[in-house]
Amino acid sequence: MTAPAPRLTADRERCIGAGMCAMTAPDVFDQDPEEGLVLLLHTEPPAAHRAAARMAVCVCPSGAITLHDAEGTAGRAS
Ligand code: SF4
Repeated sequence: MTAPAPRLTADRERCIGAGMCAMTAPDVFDQDPEEGLVLLLHTEPPAAHRAAARMAVCVCPSGAITLHDAEGTAGRAS
């Protein structure tokens, strides 16, 4: 049996527009041009971008992005 694809969520209320996610994983995250807040390009990132997505979760200064996968939830889910 294969594990379900990892799923990303982003809390734009928590995002402070630091841009670390878009710099770390530009194929997965972007920032909106008005407020600079996070935009998710993939809620289920392709395998080739999962490591970068996981790194982006780690470097986000506000804990606005969360990765839910078979290994558990990385980031602040609350
Ligand atoms: S790194 Fe975090 S705070 Fe910065 S834009 Fe991305 S989600 Fe927002």
